[in-house]
Amino acid sequence: MPLHSKDDIREFIDDEIYASSDLSTTMPKFKFPQQEQAAQHIYSAVHDELMLDGNSRQNLATFCQTFAEPEVRQLMDDCMDKNMVDKDEYPQTAEIEARCVHMLADLWNSPESANTIGCSTTGSSEAAMLGGMAMKRAWEKRRKEAGKPIDRPNLVTGPVQVCWHKFARYWDIELREIPMEEGRLIMTPEEVIQRCDENTIGVVPTLGVTFTCQYEPVQAVAEALDRFEEETGIDIRMHVDGASGGFLAPFCAPDLVWDFRLPRVKSINTSGHKFGLSPLGVGWVIWREEADLPEEEIFWVNYLGGNMRDIALNFSRPGGQVVCQYYNFLRLGREGYRRTHTACYDTAKYLAEEIAKLGPFEVIYDGDMASGIPAMCWKMKAGEDPGFTLYDFADRLRTRGWQVPAYALPANREDLVIQRILVRHGVSRDLSSILVEDMKRVIEHFEKHPVHTTMTAAEASGFSH
Ligand SMILES: *Cc1c(COP(=O)(O)O)cnc(C)c1O
Repeated sequence: MPLHSKDDIREFIDDEIYASSDLSTTMPKFKFPQQEQAAQHIYSAVHDELMLDGNSRQNLATFCQTFAEPEVRQLMDDCMDKNMVDKDEYPQTAEIEARCVHMLADLWNSPESANTIGCSTTGSSEAAMLGGMAMKRAWEKRRKEAGKPIDRPNLVTGPVQVCWHKFARYWDIELREIPMEEGRLIMTPEEVIQRCDENTIGVVPTLGVTFTCQYEPVQAVAEALDRFEEETGIDIRMHVDGASGGFLAPFCAPDLVWDFRLPRVKSINTSGHKFGLSPLGVGWVIWREEADLPEEEIFWVNYLGGNMRDIALNFSRPGGQVVCQYYNFLRLGREGYRRTHTACYDTAKYLAEEIAKLGPFEVIYDGDMASGIPAMCWKMKAGEDPGFTLYDFADRLRTRGWQVPAYALPANREDLVIQRILVRHGVSRDLSSILVEDMKRVIEHFEKHPVHTTMTAAEASGFSH
């Protein structure tokens, strides 16, 4: 091609991106593309498409972190190539993981935090699976030793997150989930004991129930199980789902006894990417003592060099989130976590007060530090008909980018629709005040234009968790 032929070479010089031929067509959606294209062009196409996602900082449905310090972003970049499972190749990342395990054991008052066992996971779901399997194994071992059958295991929980439904279904365990009742939305010791028998592999209280954000009474349940053991000889272990609460209660409700201070609590899971303040993709499971993790759950792997202990379900996994967890522990310490979370509780309280003042709503939970997570939820006042439902309210708030989920509670309170706001790191007081103003405008809008919608829960809350 002659160099002076300008029209021909136009295709090859750095065009203004959106005038380029790459971006003058629509991108393939279902067929595997045939040819390569310029990185810069494709970056623009993909980056632009991501604009259509909701703005995560305005997503008040999620429990997960949406704010990160620049140092966290830098560390994530530094760790791009570190595989958590290659403990021989990346011994320092492995060492950092081990330090986090011991620090968490210490935070949760393990009698021997330096010798406890545990691991990082991709989140609480994987961690719950590992904790659940250990309960099942330990129960099976005792049953076998006593010459008793192991074909009908059951698990007793309050209203749980879907990960426990998965655990029960994957491993053929009967889930005895305590249904909600009028005036009682979480487990009580009496309801737990009624469902326990010799086939119960464990009891799982949740520290921060997904639906209502409240802490279940771990200590009272442990004491009830102590009495149950005295009466029946049946010893039932507990695993606490501390997905949120595991990183809240130690800092903001230090007197609440829910952790390894209770000998019956054998394992705890938490989500590092929720109130652990780390980027998405890290959870933890810790056993009270090494003996509480059955040997069958530990795998030894020699093909990465060395003979490495592997507990997690996943094999390859990114290391950055774990490294950032360690960063957060060092950066914040107990005091920093307490201050960060306290700011969120204060904002939840502020929102509860303001939303109660709006008129049609009754606050169910107001973000009380001693009894739940920094969040708040409300329902429509009994007998109130403001011309809209909570689903309409959620839908209209979305026009300003706010994602505030409305959803029906699980069994037996499916009749009760509530709306919830999670106050996370970065949901500031100022942003919250803007949200309240937007809520007022939405209510005024519905006063002028009442709707009586037939939108279903599923349609209206496609973004709920
Ligand atoms: C979020 C959550 C889970 C699942 O945790 P992931 O980290 O998202 O896998 C389990 N239990 C409770 C109580 C939760 O809040």
